[in-house]
Amino acid sequence: MRHPFSPTPDIRVEFDVALIVQKYGGSSVADAESIKRVAKRIVDTRRAGHDVVVAVSAMGDTTDELLDLAGQVAPIPAPRELDMLLSSGERISMALLAMAIHSMGFEARSFTGSQAGMITTADHGSARIVDVTPIRLREALDEGAIVIVAGFQGFNRDTRDITTLGRGGSDTTAVALAAALEADVCEIYSDVDGIFTADPRVVPKAKKLNVVSAEEMLELAANGAKVLYIRAVEYARRHRVLIHARSTFSSGVGTYVLGPGMSVPEGEKGEEMEEPIVAGVATDLGQAKITVIGVPDVPGKAAEIFKVIAKSGANVDMIVQNVSAAATGRTDISFTLPKTDAATALKALAGDQSDIGFENLVHDDQIGKLSVVGAGMRTHSGVSATLFEALSVAGINIEMISTSEIRISVVVRGDDLAEAARVVHTAYGLDGDIEATVYAGTGR
Ligand code: ASP
Ligand code: MG
Repeated sequence: MRHPFSPTPDIRVEFDVALIVQKYGGSSVADAESIKRVAKRIVDTRRAGHDVVVAVSAMGDTTDELLDLAGQVAPIPAPRELDMLLSSGERISMALLAMAIHSMGFEARSFTGSQAGMITTADHGSARIVDVTPIRLREALDEGAIVIVAGFQGFNRDTRDITTLGRGGSDTTAVALAAALEADVCEIYSDVDGIFTADPRVVPKAKKLNVVSAEEMLELAANGAKVLYIRAVEYARRHRVLIHARSTFSSGVGTYVLGPGMSVPEGEKGEEMEEPIVAGVATDLGQAKITVIGVPDVPGKAAEIFKVIAKSGANVDMIVQNVSAAATGRTDISFTLPKTDAATALKALAGDQSDIGFENLVHDDQIGKLSVVGAGMRTHSGVSATLFEALSVAGINIEMISTSEIRISVVVRGDDLAEAARVVHTAYGLDGDIEATVYAGTGR
């Protein structure tokens, strides 16, 4: 964007102004001090001559506290009212942030999701953004103001109600704003330096990646990496938004998430790294395993089982079916699903036991899932052999395996997961020379 700019009334120059969207997570605005620190960072960006639009999360654990409060007044809070409640968390932080910026002598205006034109579907608690009409934001920018938008929320045109986008939804707010305003970059600030080759709390030798492809990031996020939310990365890939994940607590370059055909801005390139085969290792302790024992090995049984599970609302991840025992004509089917879905799925299956005809159900919530992700897997062989060899040397037993084009996942004992991640990280040559800095935070 070319903008006229007048440093003094008689000098008028034109220069390139970047529009930068910045998103600050809850840990970055946890208290008054942090809000002031973030305000300073925003003002510095403005001082450098850029237009700034900020999406902000609720302070610290506000959203959890509000959820907890709702649970105390109603066992199942009405979804509409829950969204009213939860969206207020971001209104607190946006107003405080705007005030902090004012007191530094800069013009800032805060907007709720609806004021910002975040139009969503009507699904309370998990609304999707369908349109962004940032008319008021443009006006504010044109008038020279810094724009602050409440993350995680929107508005549905049919119901005319406030919606929220699901946990972690402020990332999506930021990316959607960046797309609608054609921003040069969407900077996502948290308390970690960027995207790492593994969770540094699990693998101390994890390295920060300078660049990661959007498709790798999606696989990492889907398999346990928590720095960026899947929906935000998907949205960015679809709308060609350049994401820069970086830390509020340092000024260093973080990680650029590149969609097809995108590149890192000049001057931010860092040392050239050879394109690695494996981008990173993700760990997930949030899954449970259910085994359906003694399933009649006849056509249609898997369909019956997974129809019941789908109806229960559970989101199945890996599935393994054993070879059936010749003597019995029966087989076992194991699958993994989020721990939080397990109870409902078990209940649904038990209810249909006689119809389906299986013998028993076994529930195991002590599992860990390890995933290795890398676009280089498409063109290199032996990637899975390295994984299995590393686990075997460490004496770690593999219980399930699944693969996609650019990912290999294994299920191991939950207690073995951290060790497994460390040996696999080493085996792929991902270890850094120095221990990663962890700012004692939540990664959000
Ligand atoms: N405050 C919301 C949450 O905690 C949204 C966000 O932080 O992105 O999930
Ligand atoms: Mg939060």
